[in-house]
Amino acid sequence: MLQVYVNGKYYDKDKAVVSVFDHGLLYGDGVFEGMRSYNGKVFRLEDHIKRLYESARSVWIDIPMTQEEMCKATNDTLALNQIQNGYIRLVVTRGSGTLGLDPRKCSNPSVIIITDSIALYPDELYQNGLEMVTAATIRTSPAMLSPRVKSLNYLNNIMAKIEGIQAGCDEALLLNQNGEVAECTGDNIFIVKDGVLMTPPLVAGILGGITRQTVIELAKKAGIEVQETAFTRHDIYSADECFLTGSAAELIPVVKLDMRPIGTGKPGDVTWKLIKLFKELVNG
Ligand code: PMP
Repeated sequence: MLQVYVNGKYYDKDKAVVSVFDHGLLYGDGVFEGMRSYNGKVFRLEDHIKRLYESARSVWIDIPMTQEEMCKATNDTLALNQIQNGYIRLVVTRGSGTLGLDPRKCSNPSVIIITDSIALYPDELYQNGLEMVTAATIRTSPAMLSPRVKSLNYLNNIMAKIEGIQAGCDEALLLNQNGEVAECTGDNIFIVKDGVLMTPPLVAGILGGITRQTVIELAKKAGIEVQETAFTRHDIYSADECFLTGSAAELIPVVKLDMRPIGTGKPGDVTWKLIKLFKELVNG
């Protein structure tokens, strides 16, 4: 049976539990990471752990282990479950407290590591591209809570996801307070126009995606011009290509936004090239 790490111990997956007084459950008070392993090795593990600790620091959670210990616990959990190509969910909650908000009443943050498999979208969408709609829900403003904090409170994203599902789409686009493109419910977004790769900057109010960073690096290495620049839906409607990035989704083409075909309405050459480079990187 799958073994789940909870506060330094391993439990069968149906016995891995946290308290109903855990503020992660009561208030979404916690942070998390989602990562992938390829051939038994976690992709960009140190970057994910660094982001986890930055998220925790930002919300004043003191994780009771070092980043090195967290890396080791992640690798150990993966090895124990003999997972080669899988998905890892790392969760740190504020811990068990009282029914009030006061984080000082929570004694110890809970650390949970789950390793499993994940298939976010059917294969067909990786071949033909997915369709999206723009959500009326605006991405949480950095003035409220920075989207760079990967917190356990994902209701903003879930509200947008529901809009996408109700419109018959698998993903939804979120704009920021200024009406600029931010990101999707669980992925960053890229467009290609006249051979230039563009993605919103971190100041647009987005999660600093590790796949996003990987794609920027791969593109630059391949001689593709990359611009981290603010843009609007007009730029997507008139783009040649569009794709999304995320640890779970990897790279997936987008062929329609708000019922308008993007470019030829089929995944484009730059997208295919980056997908190929990404696959080579993670498997090599
Ligand atoms: N944006 C959001 C809102 C996310 O939840 C995620 C991760 N699922 C991403 C972007 C992509 O980040 P990463 O590439 O680090 O997985």
